[in-house]
Amino acid sequence: MSKAIVIGSGVAGLASAIRLRAKGYVVDVFEANSYPGGKLTEVEVDGFRFDAGPSLFTLPVLVDNVIRAAGEDPREHLKYFKREVVCNYFWEDGTQFSASADAEKFASDAEGAFDVKAAEIKNYLKHAEKMYRLTTKVFLERSLHKASTYLSMDAVIAITNIFGMNLTKTLDEVNRKRLADPKLVQLFNRFATYNGSSPFLAPGIFTMVPHLEHNVGAFFPEGGMHSITKALYNVALKKGVNFHFNKRVNEILIEKGRAAGVKTEKVHKANIVISNMDVVPSYRKLMPKSDAPEQTLEQERSSSALIFYWGIKAQFPELDLHNIFFSNNYKEEFSKIFQSNEVGEDPTVYIHVSSKAEIADAPEGCENWFVMVNVPSNKGQNWDEIIDRTRKNVITKLGRILHRDIEPLIVCEEQLDPIRIEEKTSSHQGALYGASSNSKFSAFLRHPNFQKKVKGLYFCGGSVHPGGGIPLCLLSAKITAELIPDPTNEKK
Ligand SMILES: Cc1cc2nc3c(=O)[nH]c(=O)nc-3n(C[C@H](O)[C@H](O)[C@H](O)COP(=O)(O)OP(=O)(O)OC[C@H]3O[C@@H](n4cnc5c(N)ncnc54)[C@H](O)[C@@H]3O)c2cc1C
Repeated sequence: MSKAIVIGSGVAGLASAIRLRAKGYVVDVFEANSYPGGKLTEVEVDGFRFDAGPSLFTLPVLVDNVIRAAGEDPREHLKYFKREVVCNYFWEDGTQFSASADAEKFASDAEGAFDVKAAEIKNYLKHAEKMYRLTTKVFLERSLHKASTYLSMDAVIAITNIFGMNLTKTLDEVNRKRLADPKLVQLFNRFATYNGSSPFLAPGIFTMVPHLEHNVGAFFPEGGMHSITKALYNVALKKGVNFHFNKRVNEILIEKGRAAGVKTEKVHKANIVISNMDVVPSYRKLMPKSDAPEQTLEQERSSSALIFYWGIKAQFPELDLHNIFFSNNYKEEFSKIFQSNEVGEDPTVYIHVSSKAEIADAPEGCENWFVMVNVPSNKGQNWDEIIDRTRKNVITKLGRILHRDIEPLIVCEEQLDPIRIEEKTSSHQGALYGASSNSKFSAFLRHPNFQKKVKGLYFCGGSVHPGGGIPLCLLSAKITAELIPDPTNEKK
């Protein structure tokens, strides 16, 4: 029987394993950690539960599709709800804005809060939807490295509209042209961070991202984000995928130009190997003798993050599930991250409070704060100094805006930083989303979902096409599974 091995059980590894099992492969997943999920995991400290990594859940239908591919009813494995409020935004001058998931309400509330007409916001979101529809079928749902992709009608439509996609302007330039109020520009610029990029460098095509939150919606799974991992893992187990935890793969075996299996402390043979490990260490560590696509591997990495998981012995009614406290100088913040590889004194702070939706995540009268700051990927900076300084700056900033002394309210704490992200998931330099999208060519420079010179070797996950974040990782798993022949044709 044809056998497939998946290296890593990140969300894309789990989804690939399920899809290949549904195709009829015997599937073995080797995972270096003792648990599945990679970045999509959870932390528990002194009665507080935190989702350790992703907190924003968009396009949940993509998780449903994986579960459906296994012949299961998604609702028996994962329940999720649309949020009425997408995010609460805070500025230092006291401005607060609650961004509704309903496009009409978002537009009319924005007219009340900013120098903008509701119609301008509606136009922006219509444009976002148009960009999303034009690009998604070609650039996100198919391999960009197969000629057939460019022969489809969707590709013809996308290519004929290429001049309207703002590829030559940055997201910030497009936003400043469309919107007059600097606060709204900052709000819409923020969407570049959804793939770990800078709005002052990333192309204007990312005006499509708000479509997902404000036209489609932001969702939250019952039990928290970690429920996504649990659901996919349970479906995989139920369908007969074999998991091997605490088993780090040390080598991808290649024989006569074909993937032949992997080596942990012993050899495991297979016809198909899918690496869900970041593509850089996949080449550097697992097949150091193979020709590596240097240009691809040397690309600038996306941003990383500092996360403080704080148990807070108080409640803050002004906070929602997702909250952003903007820096005063966004341009300088991103220039520090991407040009100087530093963290500025006034970073934008994101707080995710899952106990707003899942009260069991924090003890009574308390909240669980996941406090995140965007930082550069690890290039050997003095992280102890950066963490210490940033922690102080964050506490001061939050105290200033929320008018409460935060430090005495912190009853327990865990931290995550670029070094620990790399240690826990093998993400090169601890980047959250693989390569950055700070160039108009980045979509084309991402590694394909297959290896041209090694038959039977495939890649999925945030470091390869179409990119990072849960939705794109799930799409990468789908593209990969579609590229892999059915077991009966696999040797041809
Ligand atoms: C702090 C943080 C916040 C984020 N916020 C969001 C968000 O709000 N929304 C969103 O959509 N995305 C978010 N992301 C990004 C998202 O988490 C990732 O894009 C996605 O989870 C990556 O999944 P993946 O399949 O690429 O695998 P990963 O999660 O990177 O997992 C890879 C797995 O492979 C295993 N592995 C690696 N090498 C080996 C080996 N040699 N042998 C065996 N196993 C190996 C690792 O142990 C790991 O389990 C965030 C990420 C982080 C870290």
